Amino acid sequence: MLLTQFQTVGRDLFARELISSHSGNMSVRMGAKLFITRRGCMLNNLCDPDLVETGIGKNDRATPLAPEEIAVHRAIYRLTPSLAVIHAHPPHAIAISLAAERKIVPNDAEGHSLLPDVPVIRAKGGAKTAGLADEVAAALKTHRIVMVSGHGCFAAGQLLEEAFQCTISFEESCRILCLLKSLGVKPSLRPQFGA
Ligand SMILES: [Zn+2]
Repeated sequence: MLLTQFQTVGRDLFARELISSHSGNMSVRMGAKLFITRRGCMLNNLCDPDLVETGIGKNDRATPLAPEEIAVHRAIYRLTPSLAVIHAHPPHAIAISLAAERKIVPNDAEGHSLLPDVPVIRAKGGAKTAGLADEVAAALKTHRIVMVSGHGCFAAGQLLEEAFQCTISFEESCRILCLLKSLGVKPSLRPQFGA
């Protein structure tokens, strides 16, 4: 059941500190429609009215209930074959994004194998601008997750679970990058794979 999928992933996003009480959003595409979590809802405590059904290409009466990031979700569905999108605010990824140039390179073997590099996009006019939406969606044609500097990430996949896996892996990699910085160790761009 669709709501159960949203509830499971919403609880996991909160439990793993990838969102705060009222931040983040998730959506699933079904044909020309999308189901997206309601503006201002709590992802760790979702109920039926928290899922908003609206169009991918055009607004309807339900659209004002959607979060402002709906423009990004819609652009991702228009430009990529993705069927699920998660927007989260992982704290270590946000910190690293503010220090990063154009991309974040996971330094740990597991993170690097899933996400060789993550583009960092600098938003100029907030999450609802068409320019940001198109830039995020274009980057997700060739990457599984994209970071908007100082704000949060957008992960896309065929299932919410797949987008969740990318989100948590990215945050884990950024936590390791923060630890390396605190130890004064310069991250190597080529992680050492081994036993
Ligand atoms: Zn956000």
